[in-house]
Amino acid sequence: MSLDPETFDALIGTVRRFVTERLRPLEAEVEAADAIPDPIIAEMKALGLFGLSISEDYGGLGLTMLEEAKVAIEMGRTTPAFRSAFGTNVGIGSQGLVMAGTPEQKAQWLPRIASGEIITSFALTEPDVGSDSGAVKARAVREGDTYRLSGTKRFITNADKASLFTVMARTSDEPGARGVSAFLVPRDLPGISIGEPEKKMGQRGAKVADVIFDDVPVPAANRLAEEGEGFRLAMRVLDRGRLHISAVSVGVAERLIADSVAYAGERRQFGKPIAEHQLIQAMIADSKTEALAARALVLETAQAKDEGKDVVLESAAAKLFATEMVGRVADRAVQIFGGAGYIADYGIERLYRDVRLFRIYEGTSQIQQLIIARETLKRGG
Ligand SMILES: Cc1cc2nc3c(=O)[nH]c(=O)nc-3n(C[C@H](O)[C@H](O)[C@H](O)COP(=O)(O)OP(=O)(O)OC[C@H]3O[C@@H](n4cnc5c(N)ncnc54)[C@H](O)[C@@H]3O)c2cc1C
Repeated sequence: MSLDPETFDALIGTVRRFVTERLRPLEAEVEAADAIPDPIIAEMKALGLFGLSISEDYGGLGLTMLEEAKVAIEMGRTTPAFRSAFGTNVGIGSQGLVMAGTPEQKAQWLPRIASGEIITSFALTEPDVGSDSGAVKARAVREGDTYRLSGTKRFITNADKASLFTVMARTSDEPGARGVSAFLVPRDLPGISIGEPEKKMGQRGAKVADVIFDDVPVPAANRLAEEGEGFRLAMRVLDRGRLHISAVSVGVAERLIADSVAYAGERRQFGKPIAEHQLIQAMIADSKTEALAARALVLETAQAKDEGKDVVLESAAAKLFATEMVGRVADRAVQIFGGAGYIADYGIERLYRDVRLFRIYEGTSQIQQLIIARETLKRGG
């Protein structure tokens, strides 16, 4: 269900002001502290950001994919770690439940996910299982009304704060993806431990850690979908997540272009602002063109998804193009800033590091290429 246009415009205006007035002034502080201040999290909750994609029946805003993409573009105009604070609740941490949960499961969890009272994580990746995610080794063995879950999940976003994990684990000896099921696993079950947050290249303020399950008794009622359907569900969740990440990439690119234009207008070399040098203009033109192309692809694909169309190919294409695009835009921004682009105080080098992740998680660029090729061959062009 979509919001009426006036309500949605008001939401976009509010998010834009929140980004400009509250988040951007804190970017350096978040980088230094590697944490997002609690009052900011409280403001995000009050704005409804944790429940963007969850239906109003469960206390969320119930945005369409197109609306969510537009909000994600706005959030992209600041350090991406802010978005990550609620990103799992909006995306990979909640969507398995939204797509496949029973009414009881939804009623139990979704209102608290939408309000931000609890944080969710999505646990697919393992030490030996990354791109080939259908090969998960974590096992869930059924004993009566319980599954005994064991295994290690790696690089799990927001694991340090999560109260609920969506975990993909093997429930049968059937090889590959068909033997994988999905479970809702509350943090307070016995046998769960969380590793130390990893030191990362960028996106300081957003945490990833290992999650270790040691013979955890998960009630059978917490299984999402049928046995053996877990991998397919995870792929549907990622399909949606890819569009969200693409939209954030567009937002960061737009921010970098605006910063580049402002700097190029002020910085003078050879007697004039560098913006008047045509080689600088060429970089700005290339970045602007690519950002516009990515924006169009992301929004068109989001709309097609809302219309119920199959957008597996287009979502992968949006993820591939938008995330690679923002890498190029960030690189050009560093170049336009010259030496200042390399110096922390200007913030450009930080965004350059931050956006590198977008080409890796929720399916690397190579995995997107494989999906695009597979779907294009299937469609015959
Ligand atoms: C900060 C961060 C947050 C993350 N958050 C989460 C999370 O919340 N939940 C979660 O489950 N996971 C998460 N991940 C894991 C992430 O999704 C994986 O890192 C990613 O899918 C790639 O897997 P991998 O690291 O094992 O790389 P690998 O799969 O080992 O890939 C290494 C390289 O080989 C390439 N490659 C692999 N297979 C092929 C192929 N068939 N053809 C061509 N090239 C190939 C890859 O593209 C890559 O370039 C996160 C990772 C990071 C860094």
